This record gives sequence, C-alpha cells and structure tokens, in this order.
Amino acid sequence: MVSSAPSLPDTCLLCHECDLLVDLGRLIEGRRAECPRCGCVLSYRRRNANVRILVFSCSALICLGASTVFDFIQLSAAGIDRDLTLPQTMSVLFALHEWALAAFMGVVVIGLPLAFLAALGLLAFSLEAGRAGAYSFVLLRFVTFLRVWNMAEIFFLGILVAMVKIAGMADVNLGASFWFYALFNLFLILSLVHVDQYQLGLGIRRLLAEQEQAA
Ligand SMILES: [Zn+2]
Repeated sequence: MVSSAPSLPDTCLLCHECDLLVDLGRLIEGRRAECPRCGCVLSYRRRNANVRILVFSCSALICLGASTVFDFIQLSAAGIDRDLTLPQTMSVLFALHEWALAAFMGVVVIGLPLAFLAALGLLAFSLEAGRAGAYSFVLLRFVTFLRVWNMAEIFFLGILVAMVKIAGMADVNLGASFWFYALFNLFLILSLVHVDQYQLGLGIRRLLAEQEQAA
C-alpha cells in the first residue's frame, strides 16, 4: 500500500531499489515483505531472529578469539619450517615496514568483525531480555554502518587463493586457527543473514512504547 500522508506510521519504509514508500504493516513470523513495484525484499521477519542472532554472533566471537591463539598456517620450504598465528601475520607485515597493510589487516580482519558482532550480540540480547533505550538505536546504527564494511569472508577467500599459489612452492599445512577462522566466517554470515534493520528498529520502538506505558 502506497502512502502519501505527511505523518507516516512506523511501519512505512522506502524501497532500497526504487524508492517507493511502502507500508509493511505488522509482518507475522516467517513472512517476508516485497516491494509491489520492483519485487525487492524489504523485510523478512524470521522466526526467533533475535535468539538466532545472539547464538550466531556469540559463536562467531568465540571462534574469532580461538583463531588468534593457535597456529594459522604452517609452511615448509627448502628445509625451513615456519608456523604463523593470525596476529603474527600482522607483526611480520610490521617488520617488513608494510604498516598500512598491517593496520588494514588488523582493522578489517579482526577489529571491525569484533566490533560488529559485539554490538549485534548486545542489541539482540537486550531485545530478547525486553529492554530498550536510546542506546538501542545507537547500536542499530552502528551495526548497520559496520555491516557494509565487513570483509572477513573476502580475506578468507584471499587466503584460499594465496594457498593454492603457494602450494606449488612450499608444503602448506593448515593449523587449528584456520579452521576456527573458517567457522567464524560461517557464523558471521549466518549472523548477517538474520539482521533485518527494519525488524530490529520495529522491535526497539515496540519495547520503548511498552516501557512508556508501564511507567
Ligand atoms: Zn521497489
């Protein structure tokens, strides 16, 4: 339904693709809303979305932490063995005076996913616990902003491509951290799949209204 009223209800949303203003109403669980003009999916209210986000984001954080502890990759060439952990890859880049690359790697590979998952997990936890405040919208904006900067899976694909090339020059063994980082990427993607900005915002506004009525 297209609305042109000056005062719009909370359930109105601009289509990401064609800018049509659509009133989504109250979606029931398991249903998705599509733009009537271009067919773009505007919102998907997944079952137990907040619980799933909480579980996936916590699992991703645990795997990310574990991926920094153990050996990430083991290289053997010309009788020389070298084990590298994920933090060591950054320290090696620093030692090679590749400061920008090392800083970029630290921020993109560990820093941004860590901040994104912590904020997302905190938001999902507070919504599931029935609590909301001005901080909830700050967390939602933070999550929405960081979501587009997520490049962890691109880094992971880059590692796979690099290993295929290195395999011809050296023996490559994958350490436990590699598999933890693979699992981290899986849980990160599952977390991202369940993030729906409209549904999260609606949940915050609903809780705020309930808290206002109860006060
Ligand atoms: Zn549209």
